[in-house]
Amino acid sequence: MPANADTGNSTHSASRRIRRFTARVSFRLKCLLLILLCLSGAIDARAEEVISLALPMKCQPGVTCFFQNYVDHDASDKARDYRCGGRSYDGHDGTDIRIRNLEIQRQGIEVLAAAPGRVIGTRNDMDDVSVKTAGKAAIAGKECGNGVVIDHEGGWRTQYCHMAKGSVRVKVGEQTTAGQPIGLVGLSGDTEFFHLHFTVRHRGKIVDPFAYGVPANSCGGGRSIWAASLGEQTEYRPREIIDYGFAGIAPTMELIESGEIGKHPFASGSDALVAYVRAIGLQAGDQQVLTVQGPGGAAISTNNLPALDRDKAQFLVIAGKKRTEVAWPAGRYSATYRVTRDGAEVLRKTFDVESRSR
Ligand SMILES: [Zn+2]
Repeated sequence: MPANADTGNSTHSASRRIRRFTARVSFRLKCLLLILLCLSGAIDARAEEVISLALPMKCQPGVTCFFQNYVDHDASDKARDYRCGGRSYDGHDGTDIRIRNLEIQRQGIEVLAAAPGRVIGTRNDMDDVSVKTAGKAAIAGKECGNGVVIDHEGGWRTQYCHMAKGSVRVKVGEQTTAGQPIGLVGLSGDTEFFHLHFTVRHRGKIVDPFAYGVPANSCGGGRSIWAASLGEQTEYRPREIIDYGFAGIAPTMELIESGEIGKHPFASGSDALVAYVRAIGLQAGDQQVLTVQGPGGAAISTNNLPALDRDKAQFLVIAGKKRTEVAWPAGRYSATYRVTRDGAEVLRKTFDVESRSR
């Protein structure tokens, strides 16, 4: 039956065409699926690539700890931070988070793992001594001091430096979780002040956690890889006051850095009444004035400093006077610290203290 045969033939060729078409479609589908898989893989890889960092220290930035130095973004022998400010120094490859003084350090400020990972390096036997005392030769090759290196997924690594001798409490091979205590802030290695030096690397390259992916010569480009929950804590502060108060003696930087100044509070019988402010991040051209007023608002002392000739990592300003009467008159004494730049106020702090007659 030709018709049938024809039909049969045409049915056969139709089914062949359908099979070929199906094969083509399924091949295209496979390709499409493969592309989709590749794309989703790429998307996954990209999502996995950017780490989110918890604060690597148990403290509150701007209140109990301070970002002293950021990563240097200047390729020359000069230095600039990610906002083109001077809060860095040449070749600085990490973020320095400082605490105020020795007394606080002795209480034990915890260093925390910034993300989940695996410990791949530790050192724990170096003395807590300023490099100004120990000398550079004594710490050569061990500039990090007591420290920890953690390997994270996606080629990320974090390093924690200058920790207290004997305080490192994780071992190589150990898994860490974000926020896990791994040691204490100290003064080991190449450092002159109590702080954590925190370095972030991605596939061996230094990353500024405040400005990931920042283009060269940008001021404020890139994006923060700090955990969103940190909010304003990781905001850039060009200048910061880290200590202020009144004392019954003239404060020195040594008294402030040791925390000993707290042992000389102002009282009505104090030999002197001195207000002090320690600020970090002051810039060349900044003008500072610290005034002290007695009860009733009469000016007791004013320290009007000339404009700074260069940027200052830290600066101590004092204003006050010696006691001339039997006791300081009772009442409230207040101090006002102002920093101006080209006539505009850029920082201000007012604080006070009470003199109670005995
Ligand atoms: Zn550092």
